Amino acid sequence: MTSRAETPGLVCAHHHLYSALARGMPAPPRVATNFSEILELVWWRLDRALDGEMIRWSAMLGALEALEAGTTAIVDHHSSPNAIEGSLDLVAGACAEVGVRSVCCYEVTDRNGPEGATAGLRENARFLREGGRGLVGAHACFTLSDETLERVVGLSEDMDAGVHIHVAEDALDSAAGERLEHVARENWLLAHCVHLDRPLTGTVAHNPRSNMNNSVGYGRPARFTGTVALGTDGIGGDMLEEFRIAYARLREDDVTATPETPWAWLEGGWKLVPEALQDTVLWSYEPMDPWNLAFTPGVRPLEVRVAGEVVLENGQPTRVDAAEVRARAAEQQARLFARL
Ligand SMILES: [Zn+2]
Repeated sequence: MTSRAETPGLVCAHHHLYSALARGMPAPPRVATNFSEILELVWWRLDRALDGEMIRWSAMLGALEALEAGTTAIVDHHSSPNAIEGSLDLVAGACAEVGVRSVCCYEVTDRNGPEGATAGLRENARFLREGGRGLVGAHACFTLSDETLERVVGLSEDMDAGVHIHVAEDALDSAAGERLEHVARENWLLAHCVHLDRPLTGTVAHNPRSNMNNSVGYGRPARFTGTVALGTDGIGGDMLEEFRIAYARLREDDVTATPETPWAWLEGGWKLVPEALQDTVLWSYEPMDPWNLAFTPGVRPLEVRVAGEVVLENGQPTRVDAAEVRARAAEQQARLFARL
């Protein structure tokens, strides 16, 4: 890099763009008291209510917010059980329109019956066969039968694409390690791994803020010897902020830890999406190094180039009107909330 204020484009290694409209949503019918109730009362109510227009504008808003934070590649994990077919085109299309890269997948699960699982597999297959940049998505072992998991693994091998799956996010999924031990491969992306009880092949996506928000515990990602990358799990696309949170959480656990460890996790994203190394972000601050950034909130990109094209200039997106994206997203958010 020529300037100490410049970095490659940042990578969000685990996102749920469909959740960009969720903030401020109506309260669940009762207070969720554990991880499984958070899924049932919040996220599974939300994803069942999504239709095509909501998916599109949620992804537009999420992609815009990522770009505004210097994130040029989003590894997304999508779920919309009542609007499955074509949904990955909506997510990938929205990212491309804003000007950020995406790696998409559809969340295969048995929680919506066998037809739901089949439709999810079909959407992954369709998207990948048509040349989409993606992985094969799966929810988590605790909502996958052995048979469905086998079909996920089979599709991944057929398509030569990795599997993007939630792994032992909460103690309720602590059997995941045993079930995945003999099937996980180098190209797999393993989200969370908080309660993972053995090493698995693949990249671990650590999502510190989401894990704290769900009160699932701390996975001590420094224990993993393979690649660790950072994700937001759907809470925005600001990777410098996630880096700072990752550092604070790591340091709470180990006072001798340094910012270089979570910085290496941030860099882990470039192993997943090496294209982002061709992108450049000129920041409002220098030097862009771990020891400075761990203690400097509010650093913003001034200019972002993706594959040579300026997609953010003076902090403003060049391809879309940020105010219009926010207004259209707010309309879809109102429709979504009315359904909840
Ligand atoms: Zn997730």
